[in-house]
Amino acid sequence: MIKVLDIRIEKTTSPKEKPDANHLDFGALFTDHMFVMDYDINKGWYNPRIEPYQPLTLDPSAMVFHYGQEMFEGMKAYKGVHNEVLLFRPEKNIERTNKTNDRICIPKIDEEDMLQAIRTFVDLEKDWIPEADGTALYIRPFIIATDPYLGVRPSNTYKFMIIACPVGAYYTEGINPVKIWVETEFVRAVPGGVGEAKTGGNYAASIKAQMKAKERGYTQVLWLDGVERKFVEEVGTMNVFFKIDGEIITPELTGSILAGVTRNSVIELLNQWNQKVTERRITIDEIYEAHKEGLLEEVFGTGTAAVISPVGELNYNGNIITINNNEIGPLSQQIYDTITGIQTGAIEDTFGWTLK
Ligand code: PMP
Repeated sequence: MIKVLDIRIEKTTSPKEKPDANHLDFGALFTDHMFVMDYDINKGWYNPRIEPYQPLTLDPSAMVFHYGQEMFEGMKAYKGVHNEVLLFRPEKNIERTNKTNDRICIPKIDEEDMLQAIRTFVDLEKDWIPEADGTALYIRPFIIATDPYLGVRPSNTYKFMIIACPVGAYYTEGINPVKIWVETEFVRAVPGGVGEAKTGGNYAASIKAQMKAKERGYTQVLWLDGVERKFVEEVGTMNVFFKIDGEIITPELTGSILAGVTRNSVIELLNQWNQKVTERRITIDEIYEAHKEGLLEEVFGTGTAAVISPVGELNYNGNIITINNNEIGPLSQQIYDTITGIQTGAIEDTFGWTLK
């Protein structure tokens, strides 16, 4: 028997005014509703519902506030070229949800149930999906531990929720290369830690380095490994790719790197184009060496928010290098155009990535 969630829907009686699609801040304005489902160790996940967007009431001792047992995901819904609503590889975010849950001892969510929750919620909020080029509805599923208890153990109760916000084009004038600070003091993740889980603590721990980079005039940091501080891991909250002498290289997933949905899509796309992608450890010295020899062609980050973010400058211990004249490279542009084309239905999806 197929299990189907019986989602109760309570619509808002005071819908908000839709924002101007040309002036959308990322993550600042939320839609009219939210999806909520509870968990109790004796009942499992229960009471799935969509309610008007509103504040939560939680006990001050709720475990999430103290020991950070929480997870989140990030994905987008697009208004397609034929006015249809498209999700991009939602099954990947659902799979990653349960990987994160496993790592931080949150009970699993049934994959079909989670997909149904996302689809029902997005369908209800579809008028909030902006239509201008480069815009989308950003979807944020998350889970928090709610036991009112000050002890370090898995909670016996949780809340799973989905909220959403219309988001603008990440870059207003096309995709611009960013300046990146190579961080040698702070690290994002360590072997055996939680780097490959999408849990809030990782992001709290990253803010200090991000502020340090900002103070020095850099947009984001390039994270090095937590042991030797020599292998490249990620760039800000994106995965990272290098094109060196025709070869495309991305750090292999060693456990301290988040397995990005965009990263995986870029690898599959390049394979389809018969361009080999090597997943291996790569040192910052190797990248500087390649630049010295004139072989470092392109560097770019990949993630849901910006899709592709070219790196125009790196600063490693005061040694500054400029990549591709601080311009967007042909490969970065081609990948960006193809993935965003597939996401909005403008380019035929031969991968089966989009879901109506
Ligand atoms: N690394 C980190 C640390 C991230 O937070 C994200 C954003 N989810 C990514 C990489 C990119 O992942 P995705 O392509 O799934 O957005």
